[in-house]
Amino acid sequence: MPEWEPVIGLEIHVQLKTRTKMFCRCENVWGEEENTRTCPTCLAHPGTLPVANKTAIEWAIKLGLALGCEIAPRALFHRKHYFYPDLPKGYQISQYDVPLASGGRFVLPTAEGDREIGIVRAHLEEDAAKTIHVGGAAGRIAGAEYSLVDFNRGGTPLVEIVTEPDLRSPAEAAEFGRLLQATLRRMGVSDVNMEEGSLRVDANVSIRPAGEATLGTKTELKNMNSFRFLERGIAAEIARQEEVLRDGGEVEQETLHFDPQSGSLSALRSKEEAHDYRYFPEPDLVPIAPTEAMLERARAALPELPAARAERLERDLELPADTAKLLAFRSELGDFYEAALTGDGTDPRTLANWTTNELTARIGDADPAGTGLEPAAFARLVEMVAAKEVSASAGKEILGVLVSEGGDPAAVVESRGLGRAGGDELEAIVERAIEENAAAVEKIREGKVQAIGAIVGAVMRETKGRADGGEVQRMIRERLES
Ligand code: ADP
Ligand code: ZN
Ligand code: MG
Repeated sequence: MPEWEPVIGLEIHVQLKTRTKMFCRCENVWGEEENTRTCPTCLAHPGTLPVANKTAIEWAIKLGLALGCEIAPRALFHRKHYFYPDLPKGYQISQYDVPLASGGRFVLPTAEGDREIGIVRAHLEEDAAKTIHVGGAAGRIAGAEYSLVDFNRGGTPLVEIVTEPDLRSPAEAAEFGRLLQATLRRMGVSDVNMEEGSLRVDANVSIRPAGEATLGTKTELKNMNSFRFLERGIAAEIARQEEVLRDGGEVEQETLHFDPQSGSLSALRSKEEAHDYRYFPEPDLVPIAPTEAMLERARAALPELPAARAERLERDLELPADTAKLLAFRSELGDFYEAALTGDGTDPRTLANWTTNELTARIGDADPAGTGLEPAAFARLVEMVAAKEVSASAGKEILGVLVSEGGDPAAVVESRGLGRAGGDELEAIVERAIEENAAAVEKIREGKVQAIGAIVGAVMRETKGRADGGEVQRMIRERLES
């Protein structure tokens, strides 16, 4: 039996969060009452004409550049025809043979080095309306009693990104998706929320014997609304295809629907029903012909993207790769970290540790800038712990106070009596702990050195964590040795 190599290409839809829709001036918002953000144009009344959204075009150009694409000098809009209640015009305005952006490369840093993922194209189109199927299983049309249509979503600007079949494992596909999501979020062009559907990722999956150059027959997977599900769906499909081939069968080209409840895949439509969309150029819209000045502006407006930021943090500040990646992928965390870092004398690695471990433990997914904690106060706190002015556990307690109430770490130390235990106070506590733990002392003297933990623990309890563990151990040893 051959070893199978998975081959994966992604098709990604990104809703742009422009103020208005793609071809009309309706407000582009999510979660409002159904059918309240519509007009004759996005409801396809006869005689209405589309006008392209300039911001959407500018953002799509930026996005194409971020993906390393060429921007077409003269990109066309096409009509893509199909009949469905979510599309009152009977066609979707999309792009066909001359997309706005094509031929890109996107670098995915991995533990084994950089991987270049090819980008076939990134084109602009409009989203369809949202259909809501009522009465069937899991909101699907099969078995539904009736369907409702919400035209608020109809006409939302969408960018469709198509990758080359360059991804080689479920984990790599998910990692690519996460980097793309972080990149788009950083650019501020989309909410990129998979649960709400502003980021939708379909996966094309095939397998082939390892070493084989030609591609196997692919299937297309839909409805994975998180990266965890994307990974699971692709893994399930690879396993299914392996079994089909192992049993001497052939993989059929079809579209499969992922069920998040069961993690299983079911057929949505097969190739026999493949659409003929009868594309033709949209006569009501002029081509997109970006000027050199527009391209220059778009290039200049690109922020430092997460992959580059992770690399810079790793290289310049010598942060561990995982830490650098977390700070780069959660850019608000990275921004807070870099703002705190400007405080002089702060060790970048220690501060990064506190940011990715202690701070995230307290704020979860929230933006630290929205809490009481000031970057400078955070830096001072980490310095105080490093200088052993307060113990690590007191430092964590102080951090909790700063996050919820704001203020200065020194003031919190003062008001809550969290200063490091030392001097006569600590000596007295250590001596008492030795007296009260005669059994542990006995064991240590018999060579069971780890019994010292019981005495250290007693001191820590007594000082409420304000003492330095290393110092306490040293003091205990000194006393037992003398
Ligand atoms: P289709 O005509 O079915 O839409 P495309 O050639 O346009 O197919 O490719 C759509 C997506 O499928 C792209 O992301 C591409 O990388 C991916 N893809 C194409 N062929 C394969 C294959 N054999 N295995 C896995 N993915 C593939
Ligand atoms: Zn409208
Ligand atoms: Mg296609």
